[in-house]
Amino acid sequence: RDKLFGGLRKTSGKLTENLTGLVTKAKLDSADLDEIEEALIVSDLGPATASQIREKLASERFEKGLDEEGVRLIVEDEIANILSPVAKPIEIDAFPRPQVILVIGVNGSGKTTTIAKLAHLFLEQDYGVMLAAGDTFRAAAIGQLQVWAERLGIKTVSGPEGGDAAGVVFDAVKQATAEGIDVLIVDTAGRLQNKRELMDELAKIRRVLGRLNPEAPHDVVLVLDATTGQNALSQIEVFKEVADVTGIVMTKLDGSARGGILVAAAKQFGLPIHAIGVGETIDDLRPFDPRDLARAITG
Ligand code: GDP
Repeated sequence: RDKLFGGLRKTSGKLTENLTGLVTKAKLDSADLDEIEEALIVSDLGPATASQIREKLASERFEKGLDEEGVRLIVEDEIANILSPVAKPIEIDAFPRPQVILVIGVNGSGKTTTIAKLAHLFLEQDYGVMLAAGDTFRAAAIGQLQVWAERLGIKTVSGPEGGDAAGVVFDAVKQATAEGIDVLIVDTAGRLQNKRELMDELAKIRRVLGRLNPEAPHDVVLVLDATTGQNALSQIEVFKEVADVTGIVMTKLDGSARGGILVAAAKQFGLPIHAIGVGETIDDLRPFDPRDLARAITG
């Protein structure tokens, strides 16, 4: 029995490995439903999603007897239905240019890498891209951003370590405007330990941006590390307080990934999910495909 839906515990696992004993039934009984609900919760999909799926399964009659694929498909459909409304790539449609994309998230979440991946994506779409090193707190962050920019053949506007982030952003927007750049991607500090400071810094960046273009920032993208599981959900909550998050990129969905957390995030916050990170190289950003993820989660 434990093998039954244990597979769901891994994103890449199978929902059901052994349905022997179920095949003669036309309905899932409450013990089956408990087991599935539990597996969904353990897979980080969250209690609200788990109970929604449970109810859906409880209402199903399996006229030809229960089968693994039948159950799996219902779960897959429910997950895809939750994810579909939030799957939205970033559109480059700001006028006047540049479109300013503020990227926020805790250190280590994959923020810098995601900025490089996004830059690469926009370059491939023939947009002019520039980066701004708004995380002036960490010299390493500035350096890392510059290395990516050099590889991509684009410019980074940066200031001295410990300098004023809003000043860097101001300079960057001026340069980007002067050079007819389409997309300016701004890195920001990820010091969630000091919420007040971070909030002030982001507010200041916002004020400075607003003076140059009342519409900016056009996007505030929160980068989250899928391997942190439930922690990613608390980060959404906190960052929603400190900045007006407009969308999410979830990283590290390769490897030990726990894609379920994306479902929980979609259900709980309804924020657009722009893309997912599936590796460390520049090409490892994927458009967010609800059906793919639903299939990956259910095996
Ligand atoms: P930052 O501190 O938020 O700027 O994080 P970085 O961009 O420096 O990334 C932290 C680490 O995570 C680096 O070793 C990255 O190569 C790695 N990383 C970022 N995105 C992904 C991803 O989608 N998958 C995997 N496996 N690693 C990633």
